[in-house]
Amino acid sequence: MRPLIYLDNNATTKPAPEVVEAMVPYLSEAWGNPSSMHAFGGSVARPIAQARETVAAFLGAERPEEILFEGCATEADNHAILGVTAAWGQPGTVITSRVEHPAVLGPCLRLREQGHNVIEIGVNGEGLFDMEAYAAALEATPGPKLVSVMWANNETGIIFPIQQIAEMGKAAGATVHTDAVQAAGKLPIDVRQVPVDLLTIAGHKMHAPKGIGVLYVRRGTRIKPLILGGHQERGRRGGTENVPYIIGMAKACELATAALSDGSENRILHLRDKLEAGLLATCPDSRVNGCRERNARVPNTLNISFEYIEGESVLYHLSDRGICASSGSACAAGSLEPSHVIRAMGVPFTAVHGSIRFSLSRYTTEEEIDITLHHVPEVVAEMRALSPFVKH
Ligand code: PLP
Repeated sequence: MRPLIYLDNNATTKPAPEVVEAMVPYLSEAWGNPSSMHAFGGSVARPIAQARETVAAFLGAERPEEILFEGCATEADNHAILGVTAAWGQPGTVITSRVEHPAVLGPCLRLREQGHNVIEIGVNGEGLFDMEAYAAALEATPGPKLVSVMWANNETGIIFPIQQIAEMGKAAGATVHTDAVQAAGKLPIDVRQVPVDLLTIAGHKMHAPKGIGVLYVRRGTRIKPLILGGHQERGRRGGTENVPYIIGMAKACELATAALSDGSENRILHLRDKLEAGLLATCPDSRVNGCRERNARVPNTLNISFEYIEGESVLYHLSDRGICASSGSACAAGSLEPSHVIRAMGVPFTAVHGSIRFSLSRYTTEEEIDITLHHVPEVVAEMRALSPFVKH
């Protein structure tokens, strides 16, 4: 069988062999409950404490206690948004963006139903955050405020100016959360520089397994628990700790730190740029969704539309040829709806359904990019030949 080429790393990443190796002892001999007072407990409680320190160092957190281990990024986002607003004890304002992941938009919708004022800031045609609308929203809203704006977008890779967003939010008295799931491991993150109060990351987007997320909570931030139960995570998240996954998460953070300083991200950026330039040159009527400046996007992401054809059919035919990418569309209620991110950017009608996301990782090779560059133009030409929207 032909080897598969995996270009869908914003959906999930391959667990690094070093991560799996670090986890194995905690799935076999070291299986104790960290809350137990005896030796079995101690043998896992100490490695968890160490893992917390490693993750704290990865994010630049001052104290390990600021790191909460949770079940996934969705839980961490929900906890940040529902937990902070629950601590207010009164209605307030939540400022977010129109292009957030559903893990943020979902809890915001719940808060709106409960009587909070939820403001969604838009983006321009290049996917860039509307700072003017944000400044106006901060100014216009009295009472308690939470800002929840993503660091980098999962579909386009566009990086938001989170430093400025956080500084403006803090100056206006808001609590500030960022979903940094798609930034972690791709860009340096340092909460000593960026004054967010809360920050979410996910293990499986950075070569740890699925089933582990982290919520950074700056000391002094008022937040209620989302999961009520035992005293774990200092009473802020009940449930026996997922020991092997916590260990794997810490290992992934160590590897990401190394990759950020050994030039791996530059290699990925070079491959992404090669793919982007190659596709634009060989596929007529194609356009990149998102600002094309080199550093406007995370280095691994390319979202491109091939006009007049369906992204889904391109993906299907690419998958047949062993190339795995994803589309910007979500299949809702049997109809293919363009994604909310692509719609928020006002992508033209002819291109909105033809968007495809290629997302690379440190395991992506140049040969894989060359093979992709060979197949995509062929598939696009085949689809165009069948398209009722193209004049033949
Ligand atoms: N936030 C962003 C930006 C994401 O890309 C994702 C996953 O795609 C999530 C949150 C949710 O992650 P999970 O499904 O692992 O909970």
